[in-house]
Amino acid sequence: TPIAMIASIGAAARRGLLIKGGKYLEALARADVLLLDKTGTLTLGRPQLTDVVALNSMSQEEILALAAAAERSSEHPLAEAVREAAVARGLALRDPEQFEAIPGLGVRAQVGEAHVAVGSWRLIGNGVQPASATELEQQGKTLLFVVRNGELVGVLAAADTLRPEVPVALAEVRRLGVGHIELLTGDNERVAAALAERLGVAYRANLMPEHKIAVVKEYQEQGHTVVMVGDGVNDAPALAQADVGIAMGVVGTPLAIEAAHVALMHEDWRLIPELFRIASRTMRVVKLNLGFTAAYNLVGLSLAALGILPPVLAAAAQSLPDIGILANSSRL
Ligand code: ADP
Ligand code: MG
Repeated sequence: TPIAMIASIGAAARRGLLIKGGKYLEALARADVLLLDKTGTLTLGRPQLTDVVALNSMSQEEILALAAAAERSSEHPLAEAVREAAVARGLALRDPEQFEAIPGLGVRAQVGEAHVAVGSWRLIGNGVQPASATELEQQGKTLLFVVRNGELVGVLAAADTLRPEVPVALAEVRRLGVGHIELLTGDNERVAAALAERLGVAYRANLMPEHKIAVVKEYQEQGHTVVMVGDGVNDAPALAQADVGIAMGVVGTPLAIEAAHVALMHEDWRLIPELFRIASRTMRVVKLNLGFTAAYNLVGLSLAALGILPPVLAAAAQSLPDIGILANSSRL
């Protein structure tokens, strides 16, 4: 690894950017596609439950208590929102008899006598979505459908908050030469469209974790260098597939640090343009150092070949450029 890269990796670490190798700096410097996960990455990842819609026999409280029990041991931020809302209404959280998380879709659980499913329309959906759900979706909310023993009993709506530094950070990344920025989300079309429009980026909605990997591969096959930012919840494989996978919100998800190539030690989007800047600066210095060494050796070899420089001196002079390179790299 060139010394300039080592210097940069050290400097970046002091700012809270853990870069796992010099080759990622090289990829960042030539990256032209940036893919973004939404929940927990662009948003704070702490959605709040805003609505509980009872569709038939069950009360709002019963629906919420049932959903909270099913979500009892899910690590998804939406599960946390459901549990929080249940606790806020003074409901007791039951433990489910059985629990299964379905990445990118929701959860299935056995709660007492009831088979419960909580998740997106794709998890439970057949037929036409209830009108009340469509209305909530138009407000840009994320919907969780609650099914008990095969019957759709309720709809929960949640809203998340955009991280405040995101718009400026994305504008800077674009200015630094990343031509295409795209939001990839498992959330519904309307939530995705509203956020994408606000940020001025492209988007794809209703994606499963494996679709996110497929999108990364699609861009790579077209010859693009792909950077992806995610939080590791459902998107760890896509982070690993990207030329540079960046894990945001590291504190919560050890899986993300494992899969990613760069980990942010603070949940701060200003570190993203900073990372691109560090990478391009580093590659400029690396090229300068390479050019310097080549020129130096050419001159040294010529002088030695012409007999102007005694062989012993020429050999000693070989180590001199390293000092120049060190000096140049220390600027990083
Ligand atoms: P994103 O791509 O925005 O990070 P995810 O892939 O994590 O979103 O989830 C996609 C969708 O799947 C969510 O919007 C939600 O409808 C549903 N979902 C995922 N996990 C859960 C869960 N534990 N409980 C309820 N719904 C879930
Ligand atoms: Mg996510």
